[in-house]
Amino acid sequence: MDLTIEGKAFVNGGFSNCCIGIKDGKIHQIKKTLKGDEHIDFGNKLILPAGIDIHVHFRDPGFTNKEDFSTGSLAAAFGGISCIFDMPNTSPQTVITIALTDKIISSGKKSYVDFGVYAGVTDQNINEIMTLSTKCSGFKIYLGSTTNTLLLNKKNLKKGLNEISKTNKITLIHAEDESCLIKNKVKVTDLSGHNRIRPANCEELSIKDILSASKNINSKIHICHVSSCEGMEMLRERPNNISCGVTPHHSLLNIELSPDPQTHYKVNPPIRTIFDKESLFNGIKNGIVDVIESDHAPHTLDEKDVDFDNAPSGIPGVETMLPLFLYLAKKNIMSWQRLISVLCEKPAELVGIPKGKIEVGRDADFIVGDIKDECKIKSNILHSKCGWTPFEGWPAIFPSHVFVRGEKLIEDHEIQVKQGFGKFVGE
Ligand SMILES: [Zn+2]
Repeated sequence: MDLTIEGKAFVNGGFSNCCIGIKDGKIHQIKKTLKGDEHIDFGNKLILPAGIDIHVHFRDPGFTNKEDFSTGSLAAAFGGISCIFDMPNTSPQTVITIALTDKIISSGKKSYVDFGVYAGVTDQNINEIMTLSTKCSGFKIYLGSTTNTLLLNKKNLKKGLNEISKTNKITLIHAEDESCLIKNKVKVTDLSGHNRIRPANCEELSIKDILSASKNINSKIHICHVSSCEGMEMLRERPNNISCGVTPHHSLLNIELSPDPQTHYKVNPPIRTIFDKESLFNGIKNGIVDVIESDHAPHTLDEKDVDFDNAPSGIPGVETMLPLFLYLAKKNIMSWQRLISVLCEKPAELVGIPKGKIEVGRDADFIVGDIKDECKIKSNILHSKCGWTPFEGWPAIFPSHVFVRGEKLIEDHEIQVKQGFGKFVGE
């Protein structure tokens, strides 16, 4: 065995004091006692599977003033995320094979964590889906406009889903109905206005379209960042191949918190009322929600600190996601079982990677944390290039150690590897 680690590990749905033996980057054995070439005893610290974030925007290539693959993946690493999946609305957009190949090569030189990339589906590239599937980790469809959007007309949704179902890849969908957004569009000056012009109704309409277009399609379809109580209710009963995600900002923040400046909560779909927030948080607790995804979408402070209407939509979150929920689990506000399911197991299952669970044969990706190690989130300790967080001052628990494929990525809150350590997980 190359390495054995010992501690209070989350194995088979609960915690037990045990040793995990690692060989060639994989979990080789899990036993009461084990010895390897190197043995680390974490005592009473918790050993959990590292988190998987299936939804980030690392802005690279094209918008590297906001973030690049190196800073974004470093933020992920410190937040206990061992693998991220990057969205296609970069510049160039990853809607053709060459753009996908270029992003995989360039990100491979920069990334601190393992990564996958999605291809965007537009009205123009539907017939290329088979070819794109040989390079991408999955497909992203936007049914409503947002930052640097690539749109798919809903008339083409069924055809697109049909084409993707011939591959073994997942489809992720931004569910806001474009015609509904256009109908409601007026200039607004604050968060409640933003909530009004992108109402829950547009999300509901879009989810309805997705459920109807996906009839007789058996491939995995994921509805991203559900933002409203109405959206959540529509998904209470759904076919097994349809999953849904919620972000930390939609499930923890609400417009009544009234941040200063208001633009810091401007995001699509919008952060809504306390009532919506509660419904989404309960959806995570009671199992309607499959996945928590950060939708890490950084913009610089200069870009955000303008009048509301001109400010871009998007919120950073890849580094704070798991630490915020670790604190909630410590406080018994969320169970450890649900936390591991929505942040580790289910995301890994959806994108089809051998991570997300402490189980023999899987990648040796772990986080180690001391539940006494709580702190307040401060933007100056975070690693995203954007330099701010909507969770300033919130309590959180950051992992002290992060392992990826059996290697120490973070040790005592210090990075141990160089950029380029992260590997592309898959075609
Ligand atoms: Zn997104």
